[in-house]
Amino acid sequence: MERKIVKLGDEALRKVCKPMQKFDLRLWLLLRDMADTMYKAEGVGLAAPQVGILRRVVVIDVGDGLVELVNPVIVSAEGEQGGGEGCLSIPGKRGYVVRPERVTVKAQDRKGKPFEITAEGLFARAVCHELDHLDGRLYIDIMDHEITEESEQNEEEAEN
Ligand code: ZN
Repeated sequence: MERKIVKLGDEALRKVCKPMQKFDLRLWLLLRDMADTMYKAEGVGLAAPQVGILRRVVVIDVGDGLVELVNPVIVSAEGEQGGGEGCLSIPGKRGYVVRPERVTVKAQDRKGKPFEITAEGLFARAVCHELDHLDGRLYIDIMDHEITEESEQNEEEAEN
């Protein structure tokens, strides 16, 4: 079931989320609803506070299938990538954000079982973006600059 995505200005986006302690039906319904909401909105990731739930839960799908991360923590990060980034809670805007090229994350699955995953490229960017949400951070806090149609053209020219 699709849930409502809270937008910039909602205080849920600025809270530090609590760890998930129970791995029960309530969590599974949240995960299902978060995936539904992400796919409907055509996003590549969604964090629980974006649907008003202040728990450390995120879903990501950058095109390689759904990844569910409960209580995720980045344990190592390498390299650097700069690129455009948007947020379902800040519709119609994009910013240029520098992120690590590769991150390794420790998390729990929907049953509480610990696992580790290494993400690269867009997947790493999505992991960093979504995990920031769990601590009340948004990409606009760390972006280098906003990407407007004008700045995008300039960047393309600069690349040529
Ligand atoms: Zn976001």
